[in-house]
Amino acid sequence: MRSIAYDYAQQTPAAEFLAKPQQLLIDGRRVASASGRIFKSLDPATEQVIATIAEGNEVDVDHAVAAARRAFEGRWRTIRAAERGHILLKWAELLKQHADEIIELESLDAGKPIAAVLRQDFPAAVDTLTYYAGWADKIGGDVVSTRDDALTYTVREPVGVVAAIVPWNFPLMIGMWKLAPALACGCTVVMKPAELTSLSALRIGELALEAGLPAGVLNVVPGPGRTVGDALVNHPDVDKVTFTGSPGVGRGIMKGAAGNFKRVSLELGGKSANVIFADADLDAATKAAAAGIFFNAGQVCSAGSRVLVQEAAYDEVVERLAARAKALRMGDPLDRATALGPVISEKQMGSILDYVDIGQKEGASLVTGGERVGSRGYFISPAVFADVKHEMRISQEEIFGPVVSVIKFKDEADALRIANGTAYSLAAGVWSRDIGRVQRFAKRARAGTVWINTYGYTDVRLPWGGERDSGLGREHGTAAIENFTEPKAVWMNLNA
Ligand code: NAD
Repeated sequence: MRSIAYDYAQQTPAAEFLAKPQQLLIDGRRVASASGRIFKSLDPATEQVIATIAEGNEVDVDHAVAAARRAFEGRWRTIRAAERGHILLKWAELLKQHADEIIELESLDAGKPIAAVLRQDFPAAVDTLTYYAGWADKIGGDVVSTRDDALTYTVREPVGVVAAIVPWNFPLMIGMWKLAPALACGCTVVMKPAELTSLSALRIGELALEAGLPAGVLNVVPGPGRTVGDALVNHPDVDKVTFTGSPGVGRGIMKGAAGNFKRVSLELGGKSANVIFADADLDAATKAAAAGIFFNAGQVCSAGSRVLVQEAAYDEVVERLAARAKALRMGDPLDRATALGPVISEKQMGSILDYVDIGQKEGASLVTGGERVGSRGYFISPAVFADVKHEMRISQEEIFGPVVSVIKFKDEADALRIANGTAYSLAAGVWSRDIGRVQRFAKRARAGTVWINTYGYTDVRLPWGGERDSGLGREHGTAAIENFTEPKAVWMNLNA
């Protein structure tokens, strides 16, 4: 479709980092992998190799877990809580000082439009770190009234060594959703980035050391899920797994974690419904609905991949969504004017294009898009499906690409039945001027987050997550503090 003239050797902010062979980060040092194997990271916009990365295996996981255990039993646990917070704040400062480099790395490695990384991923990562740095010295317990002859109180203690397993769609932001609260609580971490996007994790790991994080507190072991991820999940000395990714892998993690009863939190998939009633502000609703599915090329767990529209407004919404899809500027992620980049990989592109075929075979009408664009890079034109029936696979299964299914409904009860009728429950949106109706919907929607007359916002101060195929537990806010700490009850005999 176009040639992307990116010279990887030129003096851009990330050039120096990219020129180095990337190694594992274990016990405060950059080290080669035990096997000596390396793997390549591709730019999804050009299919060019942008970095070579040491590939971890079970032996590296053992080393990283041992380092994390030593660090947990050592200084990180005994350091003043405020000092932990100061180190995390220093880390946030270093991230800001290296913003250009980190933003470029993330854009290149994940194929994300740089304007979006600048506006969302990077500031959200820094905000998360700053927020939890503030928590470090505010994690307390309660004095609880029980007996007159006893002082009884609770304290919260860090759970220990945490395995953080991260996907490729928001490597930096989701990575920080896990690292910041775990470290603030006094845990130590072995992080496994997705094999397609390891670079930002390795770079921010280096900066954490520069900020004064003691050796072993944060270790980064890139490599495949089935070796590094599996070894972490089954490791007897890992106390907790925090995972974001697909329901299939999440299920395996629960089984693996059962070995030593690891704590598990899972953020999995979604098939979120964005419900538009005919009395809604259709201009605002369709603008948000388009952003809700096409942002990050639809590779968002809370993407509004099902747009439910009341009969009277159906044709107009389909038309407006198609117009918005056609107007999206697709192109080089490093160009600040680009709104839509490639999808992450050839495999992901193949899977999305398969769903476009499936939708057509099921009888849905492809109004626009759904084709590969160009022959280099994994670009797909944003697709709008009309006449989608609730039972069709494109309405039930997560596509994780720029494909929206527009479904017609009659009334409130019909909208709720369809909205709640998948295996997922991550998020939902509702658009109407009737305040009773939107509140009734918010109350009955099976979703961890409900957006009313808006779509897609997240904030680390609010709980995030879902149930069933959308996951287990919540991230963010106080929920994350509970995830990474264990309560302890203490009894003291006052008559001793
Ligand atoms: P994935 O489940 O294939 O991979 C996620 C991570 O798990 C990667 O680091 C991968 O290497 C690792 N992994 C793979 N197999 C493993 C195993 N056997 N043991 C341990 N770790 C293993 O998912 P993906 O393709 O990277 O990401 C897309 C999926 O993630 C989508 O389904 C999406 O909905 C979901 N997601 C959810 C959220 C959320 O907040 N709920 C956010 C982003 C993505």
